[in-house]
Formats: sequence, C-alpha cells, structure tokens
Amino acid sequence: MKEKKIVTVDHIQKAVAAVKAERPAYEELLGFYEKIFLAQEKAKEQTQLKSIQIPDELLSIKREEGFPLIDRADFAVDVKASETLLRELCRVAVETNEVLAEAGTKLVDALDQEALQVSTLFSKILSEDSQGFQKVAQELGVDEKILAFFSYNSLRPSLSLCAEQLAGYFDEDKLWKKGYCPVCGSPPALSILRDEGNRFLVCSFCGHEWHTQRIYCPFCNNQDHTKLHYFFGEEEKHYRVNVCDVCKKYLKTVDARELKHPIYFLLEQVSTLHLDLLAREQGLESGSPLWLQI
Ligand SMILES: [Zn+2]
Ligand SMILES: [Zn+2]
Repeated sequence: MKEKKIVTVDHIQKAVAAVKAERPAYEELLGFYEKIFLAQEKAKEQTQLKSIQIPDELLSIKREEGFPLIDRADFAVDVKASETLLRELCRVAVETNEVLAEAGTKLVDALDQEALQVSTLFSKILSEDSQGFQKVAQELGVDEKILAFFSYNSLRPSLSLCAEQLAGYFDEDKLWKKGYCPVCGSPPALSILRDEGNRFLVCSFCGHEWHTQRIYCPFCNNQDHTKLHYFFGEEEKHYRVNVCDVCKKYLKTVDARELKHPIYFLLEQVSTLHLDLLAREQGLESGSPLWLQI
C-alpha cells in the first residue's frame, strides 16, 4: 500500500529548501520553480470543477480493454482560475530573466488587448493540436516551448483536481501494467520506487501516480531485461536513469526510500536536469513531452 500523497505549501517549501541545500547549483532555478509550485497550490484552492462521471458500462469496457478513463480533451478546466494563474506565472516570469520576461509581457499584452483568448490556448493544449498551437506561438512571437510551459502550468491545478477525482474509480492496490496513465493516457514523467521497491509512474500531464510492474519500458513495452539498463549520476544512488535499448528512450527514477527530503514529483523532475543532460549526451531521447522541457 503506498503512502498517501499529501501536498501542502509547507511540504513544498521544505522539499525545495532541502534540495537547494543538497544541490546549490539549482538554487536559482528552484527559486523560480518554487514560486510556480506555490502559485499552483494557491490556484488549486480557487479552482472549481464539476466532477466527471464515467457510466458503469463504459467503465467496464475501459477496464477490460486497458483504455484510459478519459482523453486529454475531456478534462474539466476552470478557465477563470487558470487565466488568473497564467497572469501570475507571467508576473513571476517578468521577475526571472530576460527571455521569460519578454514572453510573459507579450502574453499578458495579447490577453489584455484581446488579441488572444485564453480558452484558445488551453483548448489547443487539451486537444493536442500541436500545429494550431505552433501557429498561436508564431503569431504572438513567443517561443513555442515557453508558451507550452506557461499554458500547461496554468492548467495544472484543474488537471490535477480532475485526476484526483477520477482516481476514485480505481482500486489503488491493483497494478496498472501499461506505460500510459490510466486516467488520461499520457506518458510518464518520472518513476518512483517506494516501499519494498514497488514501482510507481507519475503522469506527465495530470500528475496521477500509478503502481506498475518493475521491469519494462513504459514507452515501447519492452520487457526483455537484457535490453533494459540504468545508470546513476555521481554520488546520488537514489536517482537513476532507466534506459531502453529498443526505443532509446529514458526515464528518470527516484528511490523515495533513500531520499532525505519530502518528495514532490515536480521538484524531482526539475532538480535532476543534469541527468537529462547525461542521457542526451548518450543520444537518448526523453519520453517526456514538450510542456515539461523548458
Ligand atoms: Zn494522466
Ligand atoms: Zn522502450
């Protein structure tokens, strides 16, 4: 049985402070992300959503076939709360560095002048309309990755509340042996080892965490242990990079049993960027999507 995830502002602040002390090189970056995490937690309290109902018949078909409960386009979003958060993230960006400040200013100006509807931005992310999204980025003159980062991070409170509600449809003790999220079908962003070495994957889109089998590649379902390996960063045996020799993708893994600080998966994701660099140097590709790569 996994421990319950309780995320509070205090939990986030403690985790960020601990990682900053462990890895001073990340201090500036984590200062930026801490503001984002805290703004998201605050926005979560203001977010109001209707719960998503899955009819029994559909639910049993999805279970039998191993389909996720919903598509990304089906997520409920509190557009007003997300727009408020988007504007707050732009404000944080303006304080951060020139590149982000320029993008944040352009985005707020476009919203103020009604040259951009925030719902357009959100719907392009949710419907996975990458061409449409690219077009909006070009028209705004904002880097596509930065725009994806702002947009996705503004949606996160709604996505995570939906995922928490939908998790009620699952039996938590049952393994989900697929490499995609049982809630929304997205690929994992991180793998976490918990008590007795049980492996959990965290969804890159909605943040849902699912208990899964130990040995396989979630991106191509390769289960041949001779074609799966991992490497460590220097002096940090509790962080590793799992590599699949078949699809050449990698996934970072955190061993929560060895961590000296509280775990917050978004923090682990950004405070292990040195492992992404190591993996890319080896010609490996991240399985994580665009909105997590800034
Ligand atoms: Zn998901
Ligand atoms: Zn693979």
